[in-house]
This record gives sequence, structure tokens and C-alpha cells, in this order.
Amino acid sequence: MLELKHIVKRYDYQKVLDDINIVFPECGIVSIIGPSGCGKSTLLNIIGGIDDDFQGELLFHDKSVKNHLASYRRKHVSFIFQQFHLIMWLSVKENVALPQFFHPQEKQKILLDLDDLEKAKMKDLSLGQRQRLAYLRSRYHLSDILLCDEPTGSLDPEHGDQVMQLLKEEAQNRLVILVSHNKELVEKYSDEIYEMSDGCIVGHQIIDTPMKHISKSKSTSKIYFSHLRLSLSSLLSHKSRSFQLVFGLCVSMLCIVFTLTLSTNLEEELINYVYSLVPASSISFQTSNHDSLTLDIIDQFNDYSTIVKAEMYLDDYEFLGISFTGERYQESNTLFIGDDTSPYDDLQLEEGSYPNENYEILVSLSTAKYLCQDSDLSELINKKVYAWYQYELKVEAIEYKIVGITNQSTTLDTIYTMNHAYIYLLSDVYDFDISNVSAGLGIIYVSKDTDRNKVVEQLENDYPSYQFKEVGASTAQNISDTMKQVRMILLIFSFLAILSSLFLIGEVMFLNIVQKKKDLAIMKCFGANTFDIIRIVLYESLEIVLLAQVFSTILYLNCISLLNNIVSDVLLNNSFAFQADYRILVIVYLLAYILIFISQIPPLLYVLRLNTVNALKE
Ligand code: ADP
Ligand code: MG
Repeated sequence: MLELKHIVKRYDYQKVLDDINIVFPECGIVSIIGPSGCGKSTLLNIIGGIDDDFQGELLFHDKSVKNHLASYRRKHVSFIFQQFHLIMWLSVKENVALPQFFHPQEKQKILLDLDDLEKAKMKDLSLGQRQRLAYLRSRYHLSDILLCDEPTGSLDPEHGDQVMQLLKEEAQNRLVILVSHNKELVEKYSDEIYEMSDGCIVGHQIIDTPMKHISKSKSTSKIYFSHLRLSLSSLLSHKSRSFQLVFGLCVSMLCIVFTLTLSTNLEEELINYVYSLVPASSISFQTSNHDSLTLDIIDQFNDYSTIVKAEMYLDDYEFLGISFTGERYQESNTLFIGDDTSPYDDLQLEEGSYPNENYEILVSLSTAKYLCQDSDLSELINKKVYAWYQYELKVEAIEYKIVGITNQSTTLDTIYTMNHAYIYLLSDVYDFDISNVSAGLGIIYVSKDTDRNKVVEQLENDYPSYQFKEVGASTAQNISDTMKQVRMILLIFSFLAILSSLFLIGEVMFLNIVQKKKDLAIMKCFGANTFDIIRIVLYESLEIVLLAQVFSTILYLNCISLLNNIVSDVLLNNSFAFQADYRILVIVYLLAYILIFISQIPPLLYVLRLNTVNALKE
């Protein structure tokens, strides 16, 4: 069944095995004896398919297995090591069933034999108990060949005898190859004995030629999500380190996510702010030769469908603000008002109705809230307010009535009046002729979603003697440009943060693998191929990223609402709120996956180069 042909093994040009030729029987115990250092373990490693660096042929059923050692191991070979080679971060049950994680195994009742051990922790097991596990694990995989390197080496004579009896039973169905120092036990139980010296076979003795008991093949079962389970066990074997990794990655991902979220939010808010001071939809105009504007021309502009409102500003006029008393202008009692010419057609009403008369006004929601302090907003409706104007150096009040409240919060307190209302009302108070006023500057508000630029072009065409200019356009552009630069700088820093933390994870995972290389080698002895190991390593790092992403999503959403609470406390009267941006999350998370794959290259290369024989010696 198993045959070695001209096996030669060298370590640094020194021949450790020299032309070994053995034909093994199908069953029975075949022992290899010889002084320490003569090459017994080296030979066993070659038979077991964990050492591929040798000359000669390893034949199984007359076929060379040298080029597919992993599947040869997985299908036909099982081990009992002198040092047991159990994996301490797996449970007792997982250790025994290790072969099943990589290859479906015949259904076994072995786990019953564990009874008292099943719940024990690996590190608490005694030497004898470990020996028992190592034996049960080798039986779990009902292989054709069982390799035992000094299986009784760490046991007292009584236990040694017990193990040999068990092996004798095993040998009824399979080939047991035994390396031992214990001549007495070897002679008592072996069916064939090979003697080695200095890498050569120097003696061969056949004691018995047992017949193989044919065992019926049973149905097989496998472990589901086996790689995932092993990787999770590995992750949990170093809880605090895993937690630190998750935490580090979480923080650096939050860094980049917050940088992006806050800067986009802030940019939007700044631009909104600029346009709340100088409306985004406004165009200023004046005559080319600085003649006074007239209400006639303003009304012509008002006829354009793209224009919501056109208004002109009287020269020498200033709007000082509004107050609830009209007796005397007092600055301390007067609320400074930012605008009384904004259009209100697009605005919804929170309370009341739109103005129908020149003396009727709307106030913005934020202004209304300020005006009524703690009382109900509806109490403002139909309330009289006095608007203070300074015209030609004289301060006078115009009596307005609040008829409605818009649903809009404004940066500056704002009232809305009908077209030219203030001009008509001022002409009454100051007693001047409307057709004869002097006004240098006018303003046009275009309707929503209208391209201001196009309106300007059209107006310039229709009114060549006027000059038109988009208000606030250059300021907004400047803000946009500046924010882009700020964002780029922040992005570079947070990108460096995420990059360094991912490479730190790569480094830690690399050390993790170096630390666990023996365990990985043990897995290879019990059926894992390199691809299985790569999957376990990759899953472990992906689990770290996944955990970090779950935590950072929770933190992100909570921090956004926390920030909003702080912002709303600091900025009373302001509707600004940070918005969680899920696109940013998705992009950053995908980026993290790509980077983690890159950072896993060194650990994976290490796995690919892992020398099973050397790793087991650690
Ligand atoms: P045994 O199991 O018979 O005691 P081994 O097979 O372990 O002997 O070792 C055989 C010889 O090979 C010894 O001389 C040992 O020093 C040498 N050897 C084993 N492993 C290595 C290695 N990784 N590098 C160099 N020499 C080695
Ligand atoms: Mg040895």
C-alpha cells in the first residue's frame, strides 16, 4: 500500500536519510527504532506528507503522491505526536474533531469517550488527559496510516502499555508506523521492526503479518462554517488584543467619516449662510450712467416669468428695525431687521395669511420666535409693529400689522412686505412724490431653479442701458473653493490615520500568525491545505473590520445626534443640524476592506512559505 523508494533527505548538504527503501504492509504496527538523531522523525515527516523537500518517491497504492501531499495527508494520514500538538485556543471538542473542520469525516461516537473532559479548558488538562485527546484526535480521522512519533515518550510504563494496547487495536484496520525508544514495548507489540542508524536502514525483522479487518464505510458528516468558526476562536483567543485592533480601526474610520461629514455639512451651511445674507436668487442692477431708477421700470422687470420680485432702494434711506412701541426711536427696544424686500411667494406659512395691503407684513419663523419670546406664535398675528426708517436724516416709524409667519428660519431677522410697500408708506410719512424719488440701486429676485446667469443675459439684452450683477456669487464660490482645500487637507490626514491603523492591523495579524504558526502547522497535519489556512487568516481580519464597522456606525449615528444637541444649545435660533451621510459610510467601509486585503499580503505570504516541519518543532 505504502512504499518508500530511494528516499534521500539533506539538511544543509548533510545527508540525514540515505537511500531509504521500505514497503509497508496494509495493517499492523511497523516500528522504527534507532539511536537519537539517526533520522526517525525526519523519515516519519516524509511519510506523513508534511515534508516535501526530499529526493526519491513516496508511493501510495503504487502512485506517487509527492505532488499532492495535502490531499494525501487529508485522505490517508493521521498523527500522534510525542508533544501531542494540541491547539490551546480551541475547545477540547474542537481539538478532537479538528480533522472534520477540513474534510468530512465518518460519523464518530468518539466524542462520547470525552465525557468528563468535554467541558474542561485546554490549559487545565493534565499530561495524561492531553495524551488521551491526541489519541482520540488521531482516531477521529479514520485514516489508512497512523503515524506515532514517540507516543509513549511522556508516559509512565503503565500508561505506555495502555496506549500500546490501543494502538494494537487500531492496527487491525490500518497501518500504524511507530517511532520509539522503548525497545521493550516495541518488541512486545510490533509486527515488523526496522532499525535505523545514521540515516540508513540497518535491520529489518518481521514478527507477524496480520490480515486487515475490512471495515464498512460509514456515512460522513462535515462541520459547517468551519473556517469561520476557527477564525472566530482565533480572534477570541486574544480578546484584549482583538478589542484594541477593533477600537483602533473604529477610531480611524470615524476620523475619516467625520471629516467628510462635517466638512460637507459645514460647506453647505456656510453657503446657505452667505445666501441668507445675500439671497442666492438675487441680481442687483443700476443704470449705466447712474440715473435714478423709476417704479415704472421696476414693474417691467416684475412682468418677467423668471422674476419673482423686483424692488428698488431709495437713496439716503435706511431701515433701522422694528419695535412694539411707536412713540420714540430707541435702539435698545428695536430689533434690527436684515431684509424687508425678500420675496415670499415660495414660502409656506406657519401661521396667519399673506399680506393684501401695503401695511401688512410677514415675519420669518426665527424672527417671530424672538419677538414673542415664550408665548404662543399665534399671539403675534394681527399685532402692530413699528418699523423705523431714517430718510434724509429724519427718523420716522411706519405702522405695520403682522398678518403671517413663514415657516423659514433666517440668519438675520427678516420681515416681508408687498411690492414697493415701504416706498408708498414712506411717501405718506415723509410726504414726497413717488414719481420723483431718487433710487440708485435695485434688486431682482429670480424664481427657484432658474439660472441666474441666463436671466442676467436676457436682461442685459433687453435693457442695454442697465448693468446687472449676480449677488453673492463670487463669495459662495470662494467658500466652496476654500472648503474644498480644507477638506482635502483633512482627508489626507484622516486617510493617513486609516492607512496606518490598517497596516498596524496587518502587522499585528502578521505577529499573530507567527505566534500561531505551530497551530497552523498542526491544522495542516490534520487535513488543512494552504487555502484553508489563508481563509482562516483572512476571515479573522475581516471579522475585525466588520466589528469595527458595526461599532463605528453605532458611534457615528450617536455622535451626530450628540453634536446636534450641542450645536442647537450653542446656536439658539438656528436650524443647522449635521446630517449622517450613509454614502460616506459605504465608501469608507469599502475602502477599509480594500486596504485590509492589501495589509494582509505579508501575513499571507508568510502562510504560503510556512514550513510545517519547522513550525511543529517550535
Ligand atoms: P531522530 O528523530 O531520529 O532523533 P531526527 O530525524 O529528528 O532524529 O534528526 C535527524 C538529524 O537531522 C539530526 O542530526 C538532526 O540534528 C538533523 N536535523 C533535524 N532537523 C533539522 C533541521 N531543521 N535543520 C538541520 N538539521 C536538522
Ligand atoms: Mg525524533
